[in-house]
Amino acid sequence: MENYELLLEKAFGGLKPVVFSKGCDRFEIPKADSRVIGNKTVLNNFMHICSCFRRAPEHLCKFLSKELAAFSRIEGERIVFNRKISQSLINEKIALYTERYVFCKECRKPDTELIKQDGLFFIHCLACGAKHSLGKA
Ligand SMILES: [Zn+2]
Repeated sequence: MENYELLLEKAFGGLKPVVFSKGCDRFEIPKADSRVIGNKTVLNNFMHICSCFRRAPEHLCKFLSKELAAFSRIEGERIVFNRKISQSLINEKIALYTERYVFCKECRKPDTELIKQDGLFFIHCLACGAKHSLGKA
């Protein structure tokens, strides 16, 4: 019987994955709120986008810099790129990011997390439990 109690404690006291978009059928990819200022581009809602995806700002920042071939700097809620970039191009890259790092390849839900295991990155789905390798970390 003590084992049973232990199991109960494990079941209810342990860490449970949180399904964030519960009750929400449609996940909308946030649109970039960007503006070109001089030779720079400011993406005003950068932090908002990160929190929608539940991804580390550094990860999205690195991805965008590489994809947009621009240096970038996080400034509070915003990110600043060191060249002129159109809003449509930023939106395109954000969509690419969700395809690669946010949506589950099995069930297409955005309730996923990035995990690192044995030097590899995986996208782990909290909705269906699928796990896909993203290659080297
Ligand atoms: Zn899934």
